[in-house]
Amino acid sequence: TATIIDGKAHAARLRATIATHVAAFREQAGRAPGLAVVLVGEDPASSVYVKSKGRATREAGMESIEHRLPADTDDATLLALVETLNADPAVDGILVQLPLPKHLDTQAVLLAIDPDKDVDGFHPVNAGRLATGMPGFVPCTPLGCVMLLKSVLPDLTGLDAVVVGRSNIVGKPMAQLLIAESCTVTVAHSRTRDLPARVRQADIVVAAVGIANFIEGDWIKPGATVIDVGINRTEAGLVGDVDFAEAVEVAGAITPVPGGVGPMTIACLLRNTYVSACRRDGVEAAL
Ligand code: NAD
Repeated sequence: TATIIDGKAHAARLRATIATHVAAFREQAGRAPGLAVVLVGEDPASSVYVKSKGRATREAGMESIEHRLPADTDDATLLALVETLNADPAVDGILVQLPLPKHLDTQAVLLAIDPDKDVDGFHPVNAGRLATGMPGFVPCTPLGCVMLLKSVLPDLTGLDAVVVGRSNIVGKPMAQLLIAESCTVTVAHSRTRDLPARVRQADIVVAAVGIANFIEGDWIKPGATVIDVGINRTEAGLVGDVDFAEAVEVAGAITPVPGGVGPMTIACLLRNTYVSACRRDGVEAAL
């Protein structure tokens, strides 16, 4: 059976390493890196995410600046807050928790964030930097996926990878990162023909679909590495996009859900915030 990739343990180690580097940064710079998180409305899942991001930020020795706005906030008010945060020297990272209430213009808000404080990596400037190999910010979830992949496959050169899903937040940046690692990358999506045959070719499968247990065990090439990004609430609890019970018998290594990709996402957000503070102060980041 497959090696289980322990995302929780990897994330805990990364967070501890970041905390050490943050302590050194504070010593040198005389200030703490600051992450501003903006939450509009009271979506319960978003509230939970924002709370755990705040806690993790403080645990890493950074400052968490939280802005909670009422659900009926208008575009102008939200954009004005983003401008204030852009101009605030104590703020190294700005994160607007998505999804925003439907009446708000998500694209306009993401465009308003200073790309050099865009620690989520969602600004088109950062998408372009990633696509062209320039330093910028990489979205946290795919960044965490690559770290987990490299924990079992240190050199990805020449491997065949299939990314299932083409969202701007996961699938597309994941494909870019794998190209940069010299994989041969196929991006599959809802209109792909004969997906099982595509997945069967892959040494690396990244599933970011949002359908519980969608990828079956007999689609997996024996020995392949499987990274499951999906988070699906079912009657049986949280499950991924991969049928774990089947795939674990075939794969060489696989991430569980929960306890795989999820914990790495917040750790990578802390990493991006620390790196942003270093860049803004003109000091070398230690990771
Ligand atoms: P999305 O809905 O934006 O994108 C889903 C993608 O799946 C689309 O590109 C679509 O083309 C593809 N797809 C849909 N049906 C398909 C089918 N039948 N065959 C092949 N492809 C199909 O979702 P997203 O934001 O990319 O998130 C994907 C999953 O990852 C969700 O379960 C989400 O909850 C989870 N997620 C987890 C984390 C984390 O931290 N672990 C972060 C972000 C998203």
